[in-house]
Amino acid sequence: MPNPLMATYARLPVTFHHGEGCRLFDENGKAYLDAIGGIAVCALGHAHPRVTQALCEQAGRLVHTSNLYGIARQRELGERLTSLAGMDRVFFGNSGAEANEAAIKLARLHGHARGIATPTIIVAENSFHGRTMATLSATGNRKVQAGFEPLVGGFIRVPFDDLEAIRRIAENSDEVVAVLVEPIQGEGGVRVPTDGYLRDLRALCDAHHWLLMLDEIQTGMGRTGRWFACQHEAVTPDVMTLAKALGNGVPIGACLASGAAAEVLGPGTHGSTFGGNPLACAAASATIETLDQEALVARAADAGERLMASLRERVGGLDGVTEIRGRGLMIGIELERPCGGLVNRALDQGLLINVTAGHVVRLLPPLVISDAEIEELVDGLGRLIGAFVASEAA
Ligand SMILES: *Cc1c(COP(=O)(O)O)cnc(C)c1O
Repeated sequence: MPNPLMATYARLPVTFHHGEGCRLFDENGKAYLDAIGGIAVCALGHAHPRVTQALCEQAGRLVHTSNLYGIARQRELGERLTSLAGMDRVFFGNSGAEANEAAIKLARLHGHARGIATPTIIVAENSFHGRTMATLSATGNRKVQAGFEPLVGGFIRVPFDDLEAIRRIAENSDEVVAVLVEPIQGEGGVRVPTDGYLRDLRALCDAHHWLLMLDEIQTGMGRTGRWFACQHEAVTPDVMTLAKALGNGVPIGACLASGAAAEVLGPGTHGSTFGGNPLACAAASATIETLDQEALVARAADAGERLMASLRERVGGLDGVTEIRGRGLMIGIELERPCGGLVNRALDQGLLINVTAGHVVRLLPPLVISDAEIEELVDGLGRLIGAFVASEAA
């Protein structure tokens, strides 16, 4: 049979059968240590019993009704999320891209209400915001955009972590309505901005009546050691988007808003058939409850420090390793040369890692990773990276 799947992914030669915690098992029973967690999705690891139980119970009672009706599970999740974020309201979709679409639409509506004819959103180089037309247009990566022109307009791009560039735009444009950035760039290579960047950006947005919109799709839900990465700088955005870890693998995205921004999307302005259905909301509520009760946000901070310190000790000093950076359990190891081949070599050894931006090994393990698993990860990576940079020197 020819492959019936569109060739959108260059898939690795493995198919998993089941998982437990940080382990995945392939169809032949071989075990893998998962240091990528379904791309920052499975924060509680695989097959967490509390999420399984919530899903089974909810599936047996009610999966979907549509947003024509009240959804108790959605309200419950909305209350939990807005209180964790210190924000006012939330719209639920089914993915990260959809959460960002909601944010972009909100910003445009807000701009038009202020009499701005061409509402424009400032976005960053090297950013990633999704694969739909508006979100790929917002994304700062030509590879994501190439071939899909005409792009959606209304975005101005600046270098990441460069407030001066944004100040210059403020002096020259009356059309800006919002700034949309990731607190730490994920796909762009785990790029952590200078301390104070978000705080200063918050002040700049306030001064110009712009919305500060943070894409926390990858950084959110505890991964960086706070519920949301903006909390490291005590910043509350006007709009925040979430997805990835929100449902521990069950598709769900959220666009949160605070203050005036929370009142922008009114009846008929936006919607989603599946968005926030009882099943997805049950998974997300169980995920949040478990993160909370098992103190996994604090654990992400501790485990991240331990992992970072061990990595620095083990590979930090090697020629060919440029930098090790990150926050909590979002860590990048930048190498001097492209290292995509490491992913396959790691797979052979039963280790699941990712390489992003060509030469950055990215680690996004489940927050439940144990100290022993951290040791195993550092050991495996140490050997792989050691051999890789040594082969370069030869
Ligand atoms: C993954 C990701 C997205 C897109 O999410 P999808 O669920 O794949 O649409 C958007 N922004 C960031 C920062 C991401 O990491």
